[in-house]
Amino acid sequence: MSSYDVIVIGSGPGGYVCAIRCAQLGLKTACVEGRETLGGTCLNVGCIPSKALLHASHQLHEAEENFAKMGLKGKAPSVDWKAMLAYKDETIAQNTKGIEFLFKKNKIDWIKGWATIPEAGRVKVGDDVHEAKNIVIASGSEASSIPGVEIDEKVVVTSTGALELGKIPKKMVVIGAGVIGLELGSVYNRLGSEVTVVEYLDTITPGMDGDTAKAFQRLLKKQGLKFVLGAAVQGVEATKTKAKVTYKLKKDDSEAVLDADTVLVATGRRAFTDGLGLDALGVKTTDRGVIETDRNYATGAKGIFAIGDCITGPMLAHKAEDEGMAVAEIIAGQAGHVNYGVIPSVVYTWPEVAAVGETEEALKEAGRAYKTGKFSFMGNGRAKANFAADGFVKILADKETDRILGAHIIGPAAGDLIHEVCVAMEFGAAAEDLARTCHAHPTYSEAVREAALACGDGAIHA
Ligand code: NAD
Repeated sequence: MSSYDVIVIGSGPGGYVCAIRCAQLGLKTACVEGRETLGGTCLNVGCIPSKALLHASHQLHEAEENFAKMGLKGKAPSVDWKAMLAYKDETIAQNTKGIEFLFKKNKIDWIKGWATIPEAGRVKVGDDVHEAKNIVIASGSEASSIPGVEIDEKVVVTSTGALELGKIPKKMVVIGAGVIGLELGSVYNRLGSEVTVVEYLDTITPGMDGDTAKAFQRLLKKQGLKFVLGAAVQGVEATKTKAKVTYKLKKDDSEAVLDADTVLVATGRRAFTDGLGLDALGVKTTDRGVIETDRNYATGAKGIFAIGDCITGPMLAHKAEDEGMAVAEIIAGQAGHVNYGVIPSVVYTWPEVAAVGETEEALKEAGRAYKTGKFSFMGNGRAKANFAADGFVKILADKETDRILGAHIIGPAAGDLIHEVCVAMEFGAAAEDLARTCHAHPTYSEAVREAALACGDGAIHA
């Protein structure tokens, strides 16, 4: 029987980062992974492959929409779908092999197979039982469907099937206007599919700052995505090549049917803990299958911790990574900690949408006194030069103290720009601190500074 200080179950961003941090802190560490490759959902069938397809399809969109305007004449490239998928697969392989390299470098054993926990202190994989002083469950999440919709991953697909369709569909119906639906819907819209997004709520991207969600929907509509909001999907009838999606409008209970070649079901994900044997261990889960932990990620069972998508909180790779580092530090006797008030979220469409901290709606509901500094990318020289002037930066700050409470960016490189606000918030900065920081010209980041200036005496270029 091999014996370890820590066995991490799952090698997604939560698990592999946890394993590396454990090893760096001198703990003998193994990571159990049943997939053929390391990296979990994010690297294999999530963040990384979807970003490859978003990048490739965005390049096509640029060529079609903007090249001629910049004096780049000639036919826009045509799409070789097989080659695009091969580029996506190569991107996945580079990343998953990278984790394998990091495991070797940090002397982490990869135990191949699916784990069960027969008792505290033991992990069973196949016929082998391994001893572990500490076990970290980082088993992630899986796509969840809705009643009346059966997934076949060919015509009716989750995000996994949508990353390897046999061909680009003529008509795609996306169920759910969350992050997955809009990112992958954007990909196929740019590649020529007619994409209709059916969403139960009256707005897209639940939880997003209202102003930003409205602007986002307007820009996506301009690009050709169609939206049916306030509509509950009742069911999908599929043949081998086609499907019919029935939905009911909440406002008058009327029903309608949409034809599709592909239906993408993007109605959320649920914690994945199958086969671990949690019940027998006394590890508590909620009625939605989420593992309950205390603030140190400890479950009810001795020496068993849990992090990432299988515990509470946003299902984000970077949230899982931070929890992975924190729990490793806690196991090593340090004070691991995650600041849940400063976790950015990003939608990788064009333009990107990024947020951190409070939304305006949440501040209003809490009765907080706040001020808003907003700056449009129309006033940003770099954005105008790059045909990327749609969108804005909005900073919310405390009315009295000027402390930054949140930021919402829709525009070019929003997913990168948000981090200067994250760092500022981590240091408890005021909007004036951002406003007084010199920003290089011409950069998109000047728009962040201008929004901070707008919280005070006013933006310069507005
Ligand atoms: P989501 O929860 O973000 O959105 C699901 C949407 O489906 C909701 O708007 C919901 O109202 C709608 N819906 C549910 N039932 C419906 C019905 N019967 N008819 C019509 N609409 C219905 O879920 P997702 O987009 O599937 O993403 C899953 C998770 O993965 C999320 O936690 C997300 O944050 C995460 N994720 C994040 C990123 C990123 O950060 N860029 C990318 C992909 C996934």
